[in-house]
Amino acid sequence: MKLTRTLAAALVLSSVLSVPAFAAKPVQQTQIAGEAMSNAEAAPSSYGKAPATITATANPVIALDAGHGGSDPGGVGNGLYEKNLTLDIANRAKSYITTNYPASVVMTRSSDVDVSLASRANIANNAGASFFVSMHINAFSDSSANGLETYYYPGSTNGQNLATDLYNKLKASYSVLRGVKSADFYVLHYTNMPASLGETGFISNATDASKLNTTTFRQTLATQYAQGMHLYWWGN
Ligand SMILES: [Zn+2]
Repeated sequence: MKLTRTLAAALVLSSVLSVPAFAAKPVQQTQIAGEAMSNAEAAPSSYGKAPATITATANPVIALDAGHGGSDPGGVGNGLYEKNLTLDIANRAKSYITTNYPASVVMTRSSDVDVSLASRANIANNAGASFFVSMHINAFSDSSANGLETYYYPGSTNGQNLATDLYNKLKASYSVLRGVKSADFYVLHYTNMPASLGETGFISNATDASKLNTTTFRQTLATQYAQGMHLYWWGN
């Protein structure tokens, strides 16, 4: 299991290196459940979501993406802004990772600034990131909706593995488990490495929001995110 997973990770890293430069085309944006999604345009067949040849690399470069920021608050509810919660969780995850694991971290943002979706993907691609994790908080018109879900790009086996490993660590924090799902989110589509997007609770739900409003819970989520990344890369 461990060997297989490590091999898979190495396979993916190599494929990243061999993928030709890809210029993201402008896409129509629509809002669904508070998240910016790309259109249904398919990725090119050469796109780096599948392994190619082996080049072993021990220590990963992890791209962390704190959703929204600056003029884009993301979901708003119960007195909270999604952009502030995602930034805090991402910063805590970076700290945990760099303190505890032989990994380096690149952040798409580390303060309350606007960063386009294209720039987020480009930052990870230009850094040669080993994998990409985007952190979000859900929102829905029905305030009773609550719980955890993680996403991967449709058809990406490595993305699905990453999303599943994150989910399996984060689920200890939730009683409502909404599942590991695929979706054509922009940052999953245009990053050329395994990628996952986590929706850790609903800002529109009073119970989820009250938990997210504590530093203790956000630290727990950050730690679980990091442990899920460890599970993905090192297999335990
Ligand atoms: Zn979001």
